[in-house]
Amino acid sequence: MENLIKIYYPTKYETRSQNFFNEYDFEKVITCPNEIIRDLKLKSQRVCRFCNLKYGDVSFKKDAHIISNFLGNKYLVSDFECDNCNSIFSSYESHLSNFIEPIRAFKKFFGERENKKFKSPDKKSVIENINFQGLQDCVSVSRENVDDPIFEFDREAGETSIKLKKQPYSPLLLYKSILKIALSCLKQEDVKNY
Ligand SMILES: [Zn+2]
Repeated sequence: MENLIKIYYPTKYETRSQNFFNEYDFEKVITCPNEIIRDLKLKSQRVCRFCNLKYGDVSFKKDAHIISNFLGNKYLVSDFECDNCNSIFSSYESHLSNFIEPIRAFKKFFGERENKKFKSPDKKSVIENINFQGLQDCVSVSRENVDDPIFEFDREAGETSIKLKKQPYSPLLLYKSILKIALSCLKQEDVKNY
């Protein structure tokens, strides 16, 4: 598996990450398919892995995305998340969305089709995709007041830092939204241990 996957992590977490991967190995790698999954369980046979209720006691009408739709996952859906749990998790996802929101405005820059504009809560700074002097899909980061110190340029290091205010989010609910993705990736027989 090591030969197939390259993992990137921030330099400051390098030691921690290496320690982790010295002790643990991948069990499986999950990617988002490009088309609808066809081998899902029939709705009448479904049981929710989060509340343990089965079809009839709860409904399974909605598409339950294993990885959030706004992260770019269209077709990776599960057959073990009821509509009640799905709507609880959706409320957590808004915290994940607020946490990563400024980055999402760069998605088009990295080849995504969706154009997502970011406006800071104080409306003073904006990230958006623009066509600039004939070049398509450029990223513009602008500020209302040119004296606003949201940019830092380090010419020698060749680095630009941008500091922006995000929409508020709860770290606990942000964690829960990521935990839900992790629990959805477990094998069914392991779920009882969590
Ligand atoms: Zn449920």
